Amino acid sequence: MCMVCGNFLDSLFTKGLLIDMGVEGLYGRSGIFEDVVERLTALITRIGKDGDAEVIRFPPGMNRKDFERSGYLKGFPQLAGTIHSFEGGDKEHATLLEKLHANVDWTDSQEITDVALMPAACYPLYPVVARRGALPKTGGLYDIYSYCFRHEPSRDPGRMQMFRQREYVRIGTPEQVVAFRELWLQRAQEMIALLEMPFALEVANDPFFGRAGRMMAASQRDQELKFELLIRIDSPENKPTACISFNYHQDHFGANWGIKNEEGATAHTACVGFGMERCTLALFKTHGLDVDLWPHGVRDALWG
Ligand code: ZN
Repeated sequence: MCMVCGNFLDSLFTKGLLIDMGVEGLYGRSGIFEDVVERLTALITRIGKDGDAEVIRFPPGMNRKDFERSGYLKGFPQLAGTIHSFEGGDKEHATLLEKLHANVDWTDSQEITDVALMPAACYPLYPVVARRGALPKTGGLYDIYSYCFRHEPSRDPGRMQMFRQREYVRIGTPEQVVAFRELWLQRAQEMIALLEMPFALEVANDPFFGRAGRMMAASQRDQELKFELLIRIDSPENKPTACISFNYHQDHFGANWGIKNEEGATAHTACVGFGMERCTLALFKTHGLDVDLWPHGVRDALWG
């Protein structure tokens, strides 16, 4: 009886909000879906405006050397994506076409390039900030937005392989960084309340890989370094989905990249990350697939 019940992903396809591309987690977006994404980013910009953040937009690929040094492959090898490309001559090209024609694996003709897919929107920021030299006394505040890639094919529309993260990133003293995270923990809850969505706020951990990863995850939880704001979308276990995350990295990135505060101490970092597709899907799940029928308060907050 209701479009939202049953298989949410199929409802999104039927309604044309998402467009099936034949790979789980890789979808086209309709104009209406994109309009909601843009209104949400505008709302986030309004909420964060007083911070006067430096706006930086990176492409969805990052320097592979920076990616390697970031430690991402230590924590999340299962999610990483790297770009490969053909670098052969005529002979190798002929071989490639023969294999393609015979419908056998042709990918050994490809070599890894200097580009890795963006694992999280803030990853390329830290080496950029480090190369600028010591931070000013006030530290740094950055507004970041990029498509990201994570290799985790799924029928859960809230778990896409390519999706956007809007982030604010704070770099500075531990006090500056902790205050930033507290501020955004409050602001994000107010924002989701304004959008009239039920949510929960929980201590969380990143999906670290393997046995060593389980220890890293436990330590992250014990120290309450990561919080997630969860909203119900359509995960297989019917658990709410993390739509916004609040991450205190302590001096992890500062030490890795050599980011220094004004007085020479290693900088601390934190970020608040909005999963733009997840927040958008949560709106469609909560308020229905027809944006014209969303509650007045929600429409005012987004289009008002
Ligand atoms: Zn981040």
